[in-house]
Amino acid sequence: MRPTVNRTWRARAATRIGRPLGLALGSVVIAVAATACQPVPANNLPGGGSTSGSTTTTSPVKPPVTATATCTTTTTRSITVAATIVNHVRQLLAAAKADGLKLCGGGYRSAAAQIAVRKANCGTTYYDIYEKPASQCSPPTAIPGRSMHEKGLAIDFETCSTHSTACYTWLAKHAATYGLKNLPSEPWHWSTTGG
Ligand SMILES: [Zn+2]
Repeated sequence: MRPTVNRTWRARAATRIGRPLGLALGSVVIAVAATACQPVPANNLPGGGSTSGSTTTTSPVKPPVTATATCTTTTTRSITVAATIVNHVRQLLAAAKADGLKLCGGGYRSAAAQIAVRKANCGTTYYDIYEKPASQCSPPTAIPGRSMHEKGLAIDFETCSTHSTACYTWLAKHAATYGLKNLPSEPWHWSTTGG
């Protein structure tokens, strides 16, 4: 059961969608509007990435200090992740490239982007955005505040759409070396906890 005050915060957050982060938004509002797993838009991957119920993060979550890892597929882009894991991610991308596999994807998600995905995948009511279980969204999409993406500790690899892809096969063999684990229900979703 949630304290009444949380609901008040959430209601405020819901009215503030779209305001730039870091301006009027306090840490509490950022937390309830935080990001979760979502597909990589350019690749139309199914999305999800709930934290499999192991955490019930409704308390404020401070946005991470982020850094970027360059990745080159047909073009050169980058993956934004928490600065704490960026070196491992860079090493993973380099190792994959050395094995002939070009990996790229999406890591850290902004609060606004996550809310937009919840609206698109779960519905547009307060309940849809902030309370509906991730599994009831299509595709599954974590409740704001409960995804490893908001911490910059998860990556959705865009060529990992199934367990039979070269992307998945390689990561299944090597990602653990770089501290990343897969969420079994989502072949593309890799995080420091597997959640
Ligand atoms: Zn994800």
